[in-house]
Amino acid sequence: VGDREDFDEEVDSVCPFCGVGCQVSIKVKDDKVKYVQGINGPANEGRLCVKGRFGFDYIHHGHRLTKPLIRREDAPDKGLNVDPENPWTHFREATWEEALDVAARGLADLRSYYGGKTIAGFGSAKCTNEEAYLFQKFIRQGFKHNNVDHCTRLCHASSVAALMENVGSGAVTASFNEIENADIAIIIGANPTENHPVAATFFKQFAKRGGKLVIMDPRGQGGLKRHAWQNLQFRPGTDVALLNAIMNVIVEEKLYDRQYIEGFTEGFFEFRDHIRAFPPERMAELCGIEAETIREVAREFARSRAGMIFWGMGVSQHIHGTDNSRCLISLALLCGHVGRPGTGLHPLRGQNNVQGASDAGLIPQVMPDYQPVTDSEVRDLFRHIWRGTEIDAEPGLTVVEIMDRVYRGEIRGMYVLGENPAMSDPDVEHARRALAKLSHLVVQDIFLTETAMYADVILPASALPEKTGTVTNTNRQVQMVRRAVPTPGEAREDWRIIVDLARRIGLDWDYDHPRHVFDEMKMSMFSLHHITWSRLERESSVTYPCKGPDIPGEDVVFGDGFPRRAGRAKFTPARVTPPAEVPDEAYPMILTTGRQLEHWHTGSMTRRASVLDAVEPEANCSLHPSTLRKLGVDAGGRVRLTTRRGSLDVMARADRNVAPDMVFLPFAYVEAAANILTNPALDPFGKIPEFKYSAVRVEAADGD
Ligand code: SF4
Repeated sequence: VGDREDFDEEVDSVCPFCGVGCQVSIKVKDDKVKYVQGINGPANEGRLCVKGRFGFDYIHHGHRLTKPLIRREDAPDKGLNVDPENPWTHFREATWEEALDVAARGLADLRSYYGGKTIAGFGSAKCTNEEAYLFQKFIRQGFKHNNVDHCTRLCHASSVAALMENVGSGAVTASFNEIENADIAIIIGANPTENHPVAATFFKQFAKRGGKLVIMDPRGQGGLKRHAWQNLQFRPGTDVALLNAIMNVIVEEKLYDRQYIEGFTEGFFEFRDHIRAFPPERMAELCGIEAETIREVAREFARSRAGMIFWGMGVSQHIHGTDNSRCLISLALLCGHVGRPGTGLHPLRGQNNVQGASDAGLIPQVMPDYQPVTDSEVRDLFRHIWRGTEIDAEPGLTVVEIMDRVYRGEIRGMYVLGENPAMSDPDVEHARRALAKLSHLVVQDIFLTETAMYADVILPASALPEKTGTVTNTNRQVQMVRRAVPTPGEAREDWRIIVDLARRIGLDWDYDHPRHVFDEMKMSMFSLHHITWSRLERESSVTYPCKGPDIPGEDVVFGDGFPRRAGRAKFTPARVTPPAEVPDEAYPMILTTGRQLEHWHTGSMTRRASVLDAVEPEANCSLHPSTLRKLGVDAGGRVRLTTRRGSLDVMARADRNVAPDMVFLPFAYVEAAANILTNPALDPFGKIPEFKYSAVRVEAADGD
């Protein structure tokens, strides 16, 4: 960094990585980010993790797209055979006018010849709220259907489905910082030390001051385990059995909060009868957790004055992900642990703006603010705001469903903004074959991602530190993003590109600034009531919901009822469903995938961040030392992982925390793309794939 005082400008903004939403001060020298410091945002209180502190230089990487590209007519077949440093056998440079014309004409021609439903769009949780709103409007208004989705489908769609069904709102009921007022907190299917590191520091403080931390994690983890009062490393896929057993104890021992249940819930008696079938003694063997431990956790959670539940993708990425979340909601309702300080339900959101992109309607079933497309009053509202546009009453297709239709030739054109399905989709070889079949693919991104390699037109876009707009973190805090540095070369801000394309497909859009988009969003989004652009410029962060223009937003919600019928939340019984494929002789172990501290999602950003890539340069998987011994492989040696979808070789790391029958594989590495192996089976409600459980064979790789 050199002289830390030697910068031209400092700009307050938000970290571009995870959903914690840490506020940062970006120090700029000669139009480049010199270094970044944490500032006193409501979520981070000055703290940053390694990604926020050292991960920003990806925006200055030599691979940045700086000019529009068009696929050459004599290009080789579409595939992952493009060199990002020398893409010229596949692509040629174009002017913006030409690239936008070709991109828009391709989409409009497909609409004319085959109908709007042969087009689909993937937006991005990396973009601002305004860009997410514009993107879903582009598809819905331009093509008259709802086939628009984004990566929430791959992370918390099942959590949102359960929350909408039982609580009436898809967002958290309390910020994670509320843990400071709790006595007990359950963290299940999440590894915050790696994935929400700044949130994890608050969790550790909670434990240090005597709070009871209960970690429930089949994979096993090092970080928070050391601070836990109880560590339940249950058998993978048995979440419902374990949670039902905990609730069985609370019901049978009458530890539930009768007054709360009578005042604020419905469906208790049916639920009580259901839960009686899950005594801990019957569930203990299935879960791999002793009945007495289950009883102890149940009693402590129910008797505590204030308890919170946090969960991550270990809960949501299962074919029973919605049932898992239903159980967590029921557990909180049973104990009355919602709506008071130190209580709440909190699915830890992944991407920096996955909450905001979902709020903004980047979801195929709902318009902004989760208003169903099936509701005629909702469609009337948007017809009015969008100057006569008819909204299709049929819910659109989700991410994996769209890729299936692409594969079958029913969807012929796609507009992909900032997503990377060629890396992020389950059974990714299937997704890649599908992308190769598209007759027109427009990709808007900052790098030549694996998905962009299949594109017909590539539009060079902007990184978060190059944007102005708002993002919403896991705590429901709407935060101001301020442009710190210019876009490189001819790259443009994403909202401008969407507007330029919209005009070319015949839409009469006249936005001049993200502020105008935000003002339009407020016309249909009650969640933004009392949150104005000027207030955000002034305060930098405002939590929704908010009761007045000068009143802070509410960290804890639903103390006086739920946004459901009669203001009551609902108990929904959940049955035990086995994973879609279970280990057998041919595939005897369990594969689970996820992120690691230094790398973010498909790696397109963090593998181009010099410090992060230096710390974690090589694709790796984690296995228990006893498993490595059985395989005859030393730590650092190579193993071959094989599932019914494919096979890959990767470096093996010894990790005592990982269960002996499991292998953990991060999905950030293109050279060992984890999703070659994963199972595309979907949860029937959230339509989320079962990334967290595939049957796998692990062997020493050739030559080891
Ligand atoms: Fe960025 Fe998340 Fe780290 Fe905060 S915790 S610095 S938001 S990656």
